[in-house]
Amino acid sequence: MPECPMTEPDDLPPFSLPPPDVAQVASVVLRMPEHQHLVDNDVSIGWLMRNDTKHKGNKVELGSVHDVGAIFQGGFKALGLQLLAGMLGELPTFLVVLDAGFWGGASDTERQALVFHELAHVQQALDRFGAPRFDRDGLPVFKVVEHDVSAFNSEVARFGAWSPDLRAFVAIAQR
Ligand SMILES: [Zn+2]
Repeated sequence: MPECPMTEPDDLPPFSLPPPDVAQVASVVLRMPEHQHLVDNDVSIGWLMRNDTKHKGNKVELGSVHDVGAIFQGGFKALGLQLLAGMLGELPTFLVVLDAGFWGGASDTERQALVFHELAHVQQALDRFGAPRFDRDGLPVFKVVEHDVSAFNSEVARFGAWSPDLRAFVAIAQR
């Protein structure tokens, strides 16, 4: 039988299920008023740890958020969703991926700040007139949004300029 490289000792798979403290941190952060709308609207969020660190330029990507319906493309989209559902136990609407190396070395505050940051990317979608979007049943439609100044502001207010991205933002804001 050919040897699977993922079963080598000390060789982690690229992604793994989160340690229990991710759910603990998420439950604390989801109680903050900035994210209360996610709880109120039962927005389902799944979590994965990335073991193979992803670099963006010279920075490590500490986390990312994905619309699960858009992660997989093409003829094997259904297979991707099936495998993800099997891994997570259910298929969430959004998937947050956290860098395992950062998480392992981070303080409680940094972990909260990272989860706070990633969840701020999930917001109610707007229609072309800028009004909040609702589906046919009158339920809010959520989507992954880019960084915006108000999200950065509330993050800095809570956690300070904890990440390189926020330090850059504060530096620009102070110019
Ligand atoms: Zn971000």
